[in-house]
Amino acid sequence: MAKRDFYEVLGVAKNVSEAELKKAYRRLAMKHHPDRNPDNKESEEKFKEAKEAFETLNDPQKRAAYDQFGHAGVDPSMGGGGGGYGGGASFSDIFSDIFGGGFGGGGGGSGPQTYRGADLRYNLTLSLEDAVKGTTVKIRVPTLVKCEPCGGSGAKPGTSPETCSTCAGHGQVRMQQGFFSVQQTCPDCRGSGQQIKHPCSSCHGQGRVQENKTLSVKVPAGVDNGDRIRLSGEGEAGENGGPPGDLYVQMVVKPHDIFERHDNNLLCEVPIDMVTATLGGELDVPTLSGRVKLKIPPGSQSGKVFRLKGKGVKPVRGGAVGDLLCAIAVEIPVKLNGKQEELLREFGDSLKGNGKHSPKTASWLGGVKKFFDDMKF
Ligand SMILES: [Zn+2]
Ligand SMILES: [Zn+2]
Repeated sequence: MAKRDFYEVLGVAKNVSEAELKKAYRRLAMKHHPDRNPDNKESEEKFKEAKEAFETLNDPQKRAAYDQFGHAGVDPSMGGGGGGYGGGASFSDIFSDIFGGGFGGGGGGSGPQTYRGADLRYNLTLSLEDAVKGTTVKIRVPTLVKCEPCGGSGAKPGTSPETCSTCAGHGQVRMQQGFFSVQQTCPDCRGSGQQIKHPCSSCHGQGRVQENKTLSVKVPAGVDNGDRIRLSGEGEAGENGGPPGDLYVQMVVKPHDIFERHDNNLLCEVPIDMVTATLGGELDVPTLSGRVKLKIPPGSQSGKVFRLKGKGVKPVRGGAVGDLLCAIAVEIPVKLNGKQEELLREFGDSLKGNGKHSPKTASWLGGVKKFFDDMKF
């Protein structure tokens, strides 16, 4: 049955005022109200028709929508084509507002709701070596997976979920609050549009079960503390057949005994004996790819930093490979015997009175002298 024009139903003109509209509706409602016309199908239809027309035209927003789109909005094939007018509510929302309650069939609504599974985070602890060189690790993640026996439906194998009687499978119900009609997720089926009469014994009707999932994670070379790897679809299973979430594997790099990472450079401190630092020589220094020889020039002071090009970290996002920075720490000999002490004293005496052997001391003393001179006592 084709719907009659709402203005025609109420017998009013297109530019009818609100007051006139109410009057027209009241007249028709009084005439056709089911209480006054028991068992009269025709009156009941007329009453419904008038009520629908009035509820639409009495709401300025709905009236504007109706004036613009007519009945087309109730046709599901036209659904979602709206957005032609502002005011927040979507085209199909407005029409389901109008036709949702009591008239059946029509309203668009958003249908059964599915929920995407939650994203998960896993902290992966790595050694510096593994972070720099890359590795593949197996991880066990406690998560919710789709229940196998019921295929995620939650219904006992051999049975299937039934259409929810509360929302007729729409997943949404309309609540009348005063003048407003509010759309809510169906409380009985939580939006799925389905009810499970015989729940699956494995998942107790949830469609998902707790499980420790074992995954292989490929960690690329060069990752740093805090970097995240996204494993798409490896999060929790979705609800009501929704898509799964993602798993984020976050890198936690353990402190290293020798190296400290600063961006793409590696830092380390190398102890050196006093004689090698004084006379020069070669030092074995560790790198992540094995030992290398480091040439120490004569007169190298404690704290001096030697740069080993390209012995740092190759950044995971590309770019130049970092360097290894070796800071030398000159070690003062301890627990000397009498002979050694004697030799050292003799050596010390030979240095006295000549500033050129101790450039740091000489420049420091110079600075101290200038400081006192400037004070002008
Ligand atoms: Zn329901
Ligand atoms: Zn199940």
